[in-house]
Amino acid sequence: MQPTFQRLGLVTTVGGPLASAALGVTDAHQHVWIAPVAGGPAGAPLLCDRDAIAAGLTAYRAAGGGGLLDCQPGGCGRDGRVLAELSRLTGVPIVACTGYHLARYYPPNFWLWGATAEAARDAFVAEIVDGLAETRDTDQPVRAGFIKIAIPADPAELPAALWEAAAAASRDTGAALLVHTEAGAAAEQVVTRLLGHGAVADRLVICHIDKRPDFGLHRELAQAGVLLEYDTFFRPKYDPERNVWPLLQRMAAAGLAGQIAIGTDLAGTAFWQEIGPAALPGTIVPRLRTLGFESSTIQRLTGGNIAGRLATVSQTKT
Ligand SMILES: [Zn+2]
Repeated sequence: MQPTFQRLGLVTTVGGPLASAALGVTDAHQHVWIAPVAGGPAGAPLLCDRDAIAAGLTAYRAAGGGGLLDCQPGGCGRDGRVLAELSRLTGVPIVACTGYHLARYYPPNFWLWGATAEAARDAFVAEIVDGLAETRDTDQPVRAGFIKIAIPADPAELPAALWEAAAAASRDTGAALLVHTEAGAAAEQVVTRLLGHGAVADRLVICHIDKRPDFGLHRELAQAGVLLEYDTFFRPKYDPERNVWPLLQRMAAAGLAGQIAIGTDLAGTAFWQEIGPAALPGTIVPRLRTLGFESSTIQRLTGGNIAGRLATVSQTKT
C-alpha cells in the first residue's frame, strides 16, 4: 500500500521531526560531511574531520545558528550515521537528503544512472519513509528530510528517468526538491520540465541561481512560486558586492523576499576552514541589518523561507 502524508508543519531532521519554527536561522544549502567515495573520482571535495566539523557546528550555534540542510545525497559521501552523531553532539538540527548529485562525484557505473524511473523514485521515497540506506538497519534509522538533485550544465545529459523519479518522489511525499544548477544554467527549462513531471512549484528550490544574477530571471522564477537559493556571499569569484548583495536588495524591494533562501554551501574542508558555517549568523545576518532589512524579512531569508518548504510531511504509513 502507498504511504500517505499529511502537512503538519514538521521538518524531518536527523534526530526526528521538529516544528519548523524551532529551526531558527537555517543554512539553506550546507555540507556537513563528505566521506571519500570508494572507486570515486580523485580530487573530489572531502569534509570528514569530525572534531573540526563539530567545532564548526558548535561555533555556528554560538553565533545564533539553528538548523541546516546537508546537501550531499547517498552514494557520493553522505553518512547519515555521522550526521546524526554530529547533531546530537552539537545540538544543531541537521536535515539530510536523498536524491543524486552530478555523475562525476560517483564511481563509474553507479546503479542510479541506469535505473528505471520507478526504481529510482522508490529508492528516494524509501529514504524519506524508512530511512537513509546506510542507517536503515541500525537502531536509529535517519530519515531524509528533502530531495536534492543536480542538473548538469547541459540538462540533456541527465537520464530522463531521473527527472521523472525526482519529480514523482517530491509529488508523492510532499518533500521539498532542491535542484543544483551549474551556476543557474538552463534554470527556466529545468523548472518547466520538473513541473511537467508533476513536481509542485512551492516544493521547488533552485540552487546557486545567484551565480546568474539576472534580475528579470529571478523575478520570473520567484513569481512562478519557486524558492531561489543564494550562496555566493563569500565567493570572490562571483563578486558578491556587485552581484548577490544588490540582487537581494532589489528582490526584496520588489516584494519577493519570501522567495529567497540564503545558504553558504561550504562543500569541503577548505571552505570550513576559510569561511566556516558561523558566517551565516555571524556575518550575513548583521550585514542584512546594516543594510536596513526588517527583522521579519531577515528571519525569512535566513531560515523561515526554507523551513516553510521543508515542513510538509509526517511519514505516516497506511
Ligand atoms: Zn552544494
